[in-house]
Amino acid sequence: MKGKTRFFIQTFGCQMNVNDSEKVSGLLQARGLEAVESAAEADFVFLNTCAVREKATAKFRHSLGRLRRLKIERPGLRIGVGGCVAQLEGERLLDRARHVDVLVGTHNLHRVPDLLLEAATTGSVAVDLDRKADAFDIPDEIAAHGNPVRAYVTAMEGCNHVCSFCVVPRTRGPEVNRASSDIVREVEGLVARGYTEVMLLGQTVNAYRHGDTDFAGLLARVDRVEGLRRLRFTTSHPQHVDERMAAAFGSLPRVCPYLHLPFQSGSDRILASMRRGYTRDEYLDTIALLRSRTPDLALSSDVIVGYPGETEAEFAETLAVLERVGFDALFAFTYSPRPGTSALRLPDDIPEEEKRRRLHVLNAHQQQWQRRRHESRVGAVEEVLVETVDGGGRVSGRTPHFRIVHFDGSEDLVGSLVAVEITGAGPNALQGRLSQPIH
Ligand code: SAM
Repeated sequence: MKGKTRFFIQTFGCQMNVNDSEKVSGLLQARGLEAVESAAEADFVFLNTCAVREKATAKFRHSLGRLRRLKIERPGLRIGVGGCVAQLEGERLLDRARHVDVLVGTHNLHRVPDLLLEAATTGSVAVDLDRKADAFDIPDEIAAHGNPVRAYVTAMEGCNHVCSFCVVPRTRGPEVNRASSDIVREVEGLVARGYTEVMLLGQTVNAYRHGDTDFAGLLARVDRVEGLRRLRFTTSHPQHVDERMAAAFGSLPRVCPYLHLPFQSGSDRILASMRRGYTRDEYLDTIALLRSRTPDLALSSDVIVGYPGETEAEFAETLAVLERVGFDALFAFTYSPRPGTSALRLPDDIPEEEKRRRLHVLNAHQQQWQRRRHESRVGAVEEVLVETVDGGGRVSGRTPHFRIVHFDGSEDLVGSLVAVEITGAGPNALQGRLSQPIH
């Protein structure tokens, strides 16, 4: 092959997967490979997969099918599959996909460059699905961060919960926490390279504990990193929100007043069946605690509709929680039975059409709420960290509350904090007018 080997990574799923792909991309570039924008231009295509719902898995299978055709046209093309579906299905995945050259689990993504080389030299499929103990042995500076202003930083991996619907403990294993000194060092390095916002990642990030440092302690340490302007984290679990976390969240100057806190259902019967570890009232008390420390807190959440046996009245209880809390954003899903989860023992008895109807009702309700909430910002001046160029002389960024704002501006604003007067609002974003740079 002449010139540099070109690679393309397609990522499915959550921020953790995006972050993993950034690391794989960085590792491949460190070995002299060149990142390209599409599978058509690439010599190596890597699919980083998500198993959380059947839909995500189906999207991956569709992409893998297209690559089969591409490989017939270009037999030199190499194909890799990694992440959650790879970990879950293991080598069985190869039975239906003989065109795969590299198969790698969630714990071994750092081995992608070596496995690619192995596949190229041996001409046979290279596999590594071992569950390694140390998941954090990739050098800090290696990740090729996709966002110019917000960098993801791993705080912990895996999950110790046993939610009945969730495949994540099977695909990512139990919790492994990273030393806070390593996290702080990575954040310092990112700030030195020009990042002003950091998002700490973990499946249940607020369950973080390493040595004597709990999550509140970790936030306090990262908050002190000189030059950092904004600190975010995701995903939090309601069971691990305590007084210390609420106090840290409300008082640390760089921690943004936005929290993603999945509640899943407003019905106590369903929450118990889901094994979420809290009741509806306990969830509402948690929100009250957080709001007592951060009065202007913006919240988002995850909800599942059509969980086995969910009655119309139980669905109404979920709607009532929406009404009561007033979330700034909602990620609502129809229940999807997953392999190896305990909910598989329950009959998936809500017809797909009914699940979709409930989803639609929920989303319509939420959109109205978001529009009203956004409209209340018109006339206010918001601090916006500019992230992207929209084209046509427009740019966009986010407020500390994670609201998207579009306004007229040029590319050189990307990365700056600016004051924007809000002039209009829709359900998903705000419109504004540049008022002045903040620095
Ligand atoms: N670890 C986080 C937690 O415990 O809240 C969230 C991880 S999961 C990738 C993101 C969301 O997907 C969940 O909060 C849940 O709402 C949804 N989800 C997970 N499994 C699902 C399933 N089997 N069917 C439908 N939605 C699911």
